[in-house]
Amino acid sequence: MLLKDVTETDVVIVGAGNAAVCAAMAAHENGVKVIVLERAPEVEAGGNSFFTAGATRFVFNNIAELREVLDVSADEERNVDFGVYTSENFFDDMGRVTQYRCDPDLTETLIGNSRSTLAWMKKKGVKFEPMYGRQAHKVDGRFKFFGGQVCAFWGGGAGLVESLHKIAKTAGIPILYETAGVSLIQEAGKVVGIVAESHGIQSKIMAKAVVLAAGGFESNAEMRARYLGPNWDLAKVRGTRFNMGDGINMALRAGAMPCGHWSGAHAVGWDMNAPTFGDRVVGDGFQKHSYPYSIMINADGERFVDEGADFRNFTYAKYGLDVLKQPGMFSWQVYDSKVIPLLRDEYRIKQVTKVEANSLEELADKMEGVNKNRFLETVKHFNAAVRKDIPFNSVIKDGKCTQGLAVPKSNWAETIDKPPYQAYAVTCGITFTFGGVKVSTKAAVQSVAGREIPGLFAAGEMVGGLFYFNYPSGTGLVSGAVFGRIAGTQAALHAKSGV
Ligand SMILES: Cc1cc2nc3c(=O)[nH]c(=O)nc-3n(C[C@H](O)[C@H](O)[C@H](O)COP(=O)(O)OP(=O)(O)OC[C@H]3O[C@@H](n4cnc5c(N)ncnc54)[C@H](O)[C@@H]3O)c2cc1C
Repeated sequence: MLLKDVTETDVVIVGAGNAAVCAAMAAHENGVKVIVLERAPEVEAGGNSFFTAGATRFVFNNIAELREVLDVSADEERNVDFGVYTSENFFDDMGRVTQYRCDPDLTETLIGNSRSTLAWMKKKGVKFEPMYGRQAHKVDGRFKFFGGQVCAFWGGGAGLVESLHKIAKTAGIPILYETAGVSLIQEAGKVVGIVAESHGIQSKIMAKAVVLAAGGFESNAEMRARYLGPNWDLAKVRGTRFNMGDGINMALRAGAMPCGHWSGAHAVGWDMNAPTFGDRVVGDGFQKHSYPYSIMINADGERFVDEGADFRNFTYAKYGLDVLKQPGMFSWQVYDSKVIPLLRDEYRIKQVTKVEANSLEELADKMEGVNKNRFLETVKHFNAAVRKDIPFNSVIKDGKCTQGLAVPKSNWAETIDKPPYQAYAVTCGITFTFGGVKVSTKAAVQSVAGREIPGLFAAGEMVGGLFYFNYPSGTGLVSGAVFGRIAGTQAALHAKSGV
């Protein structure tokens, strides 16, 4: 189907990532006509959702609840410690990492619907798998999960997008590729359609409701510099090149209330030599997330964060900003051979900026851009400050810390003294932006006057108010799914109500 063939429908969805397709599936099952507009060509479809590892977080109090989402075999039940992840755990994690700014109503909606929404996706044909490689270590011959996150969409983001698009196709939901939403059409304040553009030609689609699920503004260098601040225009983009803030801007022009942490973003340590935008083959392989076992060194040869402040799940999304603030916007993660076996799979890809040496002096010579003498002094002081009386344990916050350093390391502080040594260079990679538009718990977009804009719904990254300063890993996809499903359902009900 082409844009010129469509003049009216019940519900238009803007975007074809996870949030959008969940919205489309929900609207469709509520018996209305749905059309999806996607700015990207089909070969680049799936937005940021495609680039993910597919990690996801949801509430389960026991194995039976875990099984509503993840197929756990009897063998796994016996041999794997999945733990539990309660609502209280999820609330604590959201509250702690966002400095208690996350909107309580939206957070409650997210957490309360997390398992049922993923189970709904499973019934539609989406599959899940345990995250042994990244979220579990073997303890006494048995896998033990840590950090409250045990599973991922099967096949990662690519697998998720493939199955969502297959489900949409089977349901007969048309996705119009290379077709961008441009502006909302309003009559007496109500949203009654959208102007869309395909190959330079604009046309109107009249609709009873519109769901915006077009991502944040992370791909837009100008908006990054404007809202996040100096040097954010220079950050690498981890995912899609198509999330230019269009959905947010369309909503704001229609009178939506800006909401959330507009100067904040999810950003990580990302290979220094990664391309400007995400690479669909390498995916999230450019991230370097074993840093809790490292010391991170800047150009001055100094440490600048507590690498072991918490599990990586609760620090990785804010450390990109710390790297951005360093001279030259880079850092080297330094490991010795005691911890190298613990490094995640992304350290073993071909496209990695890595140096290796048998002495710290030789390593320093290879760590481009780093003050050698200062680095060697930093390691000496660090090693002297490590508490040798506390045992190292990677699956708990082991409290093995440093003592007396200006920049402490609170957990997993091992001395750096066993060759060979490895170091990996990272810069700041932006994942997504936190600022967006205000929505109700029914995903209805709120106006600056504090009322709903009739006929307008939003979901996914462009919803403001959930994430501030930081983010618990695996929450983006489940948030998109929860609010996407609600937005699609509410848009369908609105369309059927004839209001
Ligand atoms: C490298 C990486 C790894 C990640 N890993 C994880 C993870 O493991 N777990 C997790 O939960 N989250 C992860 N995230 C975050 C996650 O990707 C997002 O939170 C989530 O995918 C957002 O979904 P969305 O549907 O809102 O946006 P997207 O999936 O980005 O979809 C937005 C879509 O809108 C389209 N679009 C934009 N403008 C227009 C327009 N004008 N008209 C029409 N279409 C438009 C875009 O092309 C895109 O397809 C990761 C992100 C990245 C980049």
